[in-house]
Amino acid sequence: MGYFKMNPDENGNFGEYGGSFIPPQLQTEMDKITDAYFSISKSHDFITELRSIRKHFQGRPTPVYYAKTLSEKYGGRIYLKREDLNHTGAHKLNHCMGEALLAKYLGKKKLIAETGAGQHGVALATAAAYFGLECEIHMGEVDIAKEHPNVVRMEILGAKVVPVTFGLKTLKEAVDSAFGAYLEDPVNSIYCIGSVVGPHPFPMMVRDFQMVVGVEAKEQYFHMTGEHPDNVVACVGGGSNAMGIFSAFIEDNEVDIYGVEPGGRSLNLGDHAATMTLGKPGMIHGFKCYNLQDEKGEPAPVYSIASGLDYPGVGPEHSMLKDLGRVNYVTADDRETLDSFFELSRLEGIIPALESAHAVAYACKLAQEKPRQSILVNLSGRGDKDIDFVVENFGKDYGIG
Ligand SMILES: *Cc1c(COP(=O)(O)O)cnc(C)c1O
Repeated sequence: MGYFKMNPDENGNFGEYGGSFIPPQLQTEMDKITDAYFSISKSHDFITELRSIRKHFQGRPTPVYYAKTLSEKYGGRIYLKREDLNHTGAHKLNHCMGEALLAKYLGKKKLIAETGAGQHGVALATAAAYFGLECEIHMGEVDIAKEHPNVVRMEILGAKVVPVTFGLKTLKEAVDSAFGAYLEDPVNSIYCIGSVVGPHPFPMMVRDFQMVVGVEAKEQYFHMTGEHPDNVVACVGGGSNAMGIFSAFIEDNEVDIYGVEPGGRSLNLGDHAATMTLGKPGMIHGFKCYNLQDEKGEPAPVYSIASGLDYPGVGPEHSMLKDLGRVNYVTADDRETLDSFFELSRLEGIIPALESAHAVAYACKLAQEKPRQSILVNLSGRGDKDIDFVVENFGKDYGIG
């Protein structure tokens, strides 16, 4: 049997990971979403409409670009899948449009989600506006203060931003708050997760909606070169952009695959979010995966210079692929990431998201180790959202200010 027929199994398990460990009331709703997803997402109408949205609204296919100057500097041949050119500037819209289209088919009126840095909130608010659905985004008060531009974007797009004022007032509390709101009205609303995480069916569903990245990239790369890339590289937070591009190459055993986790300031607990590199299997947010935990077994504090990567868990499929040895999970630290952020900007004219700059940083290292090989990097998003932060804190190091 092929990889995708077996993973996940009918209970949403990826090997020993994934599954669904949630209160019975929520489980009933998840089962309904699972059944609906299997019937609706395979229908001709759904597939046709999603395809049309990808082309006319999102601007797909995004190009694959040969980074000539970067390749000349490091050796190897480095290619970038330009998800930064997808509408809203990152890959997240790929699954948000899919989730929102499913909501429309189910007759739902409202999309509910949490957001940390606001990227998922903005993508979902965009999808809601497109479909004329209500949108409610739960966000910790601490994050609201830090991520003002994204809060304003969501409001301009017509979403309601709900401040979460309990606990540490960040992402974890926002998840609890959003689940609470969803359970109050599961008939009219649907919960939309922002990565390949959470209880079944989300890790599968979000992966399936992101597969468009890999399908396109494989075909485009083949068209450009007449072969498959020797290596594929992507950054891993929850792991959705990575599963999007990895999925097309998982069954091609001659392709080496690398998932890049944030090494942060140091590899001491609290200074990074290298979940698979340094964590161990456990439970978080209703599913099983590699986790970073403190001595009490609670989710540990995590840190990354890229706010989209600082999650103490990771997708269950990545957890399985690590144990299988099919994907190599590695790290890039803050400094390597900043160097790549400026280097890609100055050598190629592309300002990458700090998340994506982790993947570029590792690809440059790999190019030096494997100078005769090709490397396809998923450039998950553009860096406009990061420029003020980078210049304020690190501009001097790079000749600015
Ligand atoms: C959110 C985000 C990520 C991390 O999410 P994944 O689910 O791991 O892909 C990576 N890159 C960008 C640009 C993001 O906005």
